[in-house]
Amino acid sequence: MRITALDTVCLSRMHEPERQWITAQYRTVKADCAVVRVHTEEGLVGIGEASAYGVPPRIAEWVDWLAPTLIGKDAADPATPPHPNGRDRAHDAAVAGIDCALWDLRGKMAGKRVSELLGASPADSVPMYASSGCRYDWRDRPEQLIEEAVGYADQGFPVMKFRIGTDWAWDGVTVDRFLGLVRELHQAVAGKMKLALDGNCRLTLDEALPIAMELDRLEFAWLEEPIPWSDIDGYATLAAAVDMPVTGGESFTTLEQFRPYIEKRAYDIVQPDAGVCGLTELVRIAELAAHHGLKLYPHSWHNGLMAMAHAHAVAALPNLEILEVCQIQGPLQWDIAAEPPVMDNGQLHLPDSPGLGIELADEVAGRYPYIEGHYALTVDR
Ligand SMILES: [Mg+2]
Repeated sequence: MRITALDTVCLSRMHEPERQWITAQYRTVKADCAVVRVHTEEGLVGIGEASAYGVPPRIAEWVDWLAPTLIGKDAADPATPPHPNGRDRAHDAAVAGIDCALWDLRGKMAGKRVSELLGASPADSVPMYASSGCRYDWRDRPEQLIEEAVGYADQGFPVMKFRIGTDWAWDGVTVDRFLGLVRELHQAVAGKMKLALDGNCRLTLDEALPIAMELDRLEFAWLEEPIPWSDIDGYATLAAAVDMPVTGGESFTTLEQFRPYIEKRAYDIVQPDAGVCGLTELVRIAELAAHHGLKLYPHSWHNGLMAMAHAHAVAALPNLEILEVCQIQGPLQWDIAAEPPVMDNGQLHLPDSPGLGIELADEVAGRYPYIEGHYALTVDR
C-alpha cells in the first residue's frame, strides 16, 4: 500500500473569558490543534496529533516540506523523517505528528490496535490523571485550586497535577506561602486522591529543595520540572534528596537528550511527549529508562488524539503506568473525535478498533477553523 499524500488539519477554538487561564505571566486565550494525515492509494488514512506548541500552520509547512520523502513509499515500512539537528519546535512537531499518523496507519493495515503492535498483552484500559491546577491566581482567590482539586477527587481521578500559579513576583509569593496553600490542598483531598506538582522550570534550586522536602513528607506522587531543564546536576541533587520521584523531559525530542538525565539519575521518571518526539522515539526512551529501572509517564497536553497515542503506549509498555489528560482544553479536545473513548472513574477505555482508535469528526475543520495568532498573551501587572 503506497503513501500518496500528507496534509495537516489546523484547528482552533477561542476560550471563553472565564475559561482563559494564567500561569506565570501568560494568559492562554485559545486552544489549538494540528492533526497530520497520511493518505494511501487504497484510501486508508493514518492520523496523528502534533504538539500545537509547534504552531499549527508552521507544522503544516514542515509536513508539506517532508511529504516528498514519504510519498510513493510502502506504508507498511516507511521511515519516519529524522528530527532536525538543533531544535525547531514546528519541524520537531511535524516529525512527531507524521510518526504518530504512521503508527495509526500501520494499526489499520494490520487490523490491530496500536497497543497490540507495541506490546504482547496490552491492557484494555489505562488510569488517567487530571492535569490542570493552572487557573488559580495568587491575587484573587488562590483557594480556587482547592475547589478544582476536590472536583477531580469526586470524579475518581487517582492523581491531580497542578502548577505553581501566577508570577510569584507580582504578589510577593514566597516558598512558605506556597507551601501553606499546598498543605490546605493536601488536607482537602487526603485519602481520596494523590497530588503531583509541575514547577514548569520556574523555581530556583534554593526554592525547589524545601518544596521537594515538604511534598515528599506529604507523599506527593511526583515533582515535575521544578528548575530550569538544563540544570542536570540540580535535578540530580533534588532527586537524591527525596524519596518522591523527580521528573521531566517533556520538551525533549530524542533519546540522546534523555540519556544524560537517565544516566546521572537526574530524573526518577522520564516524561517524553509523542506529539513532540514521536511514538517511535518514545518507545526507545521507554526501553532505555526500563534498562535503568526508571518509569515513563508520558507528557500529554492538548487534544484527544494525542491522549490516545499515549494511552496505547501506557496500555502496552511495562514501565508506563498512567496517562496525563488535560482538563482545561475545552470542547476542542474531544470534539475532534467522531466518537471519543469512554472515560470513567479515572480510567480511559481503549476503543476496540484498529490504529489509535479514533477518527476525525466530520466537518471538524469547518466548526473549528484555525485562528491566527499566539495562543497566549503576555500579561503586565
Ligand atoms: Mg510539565
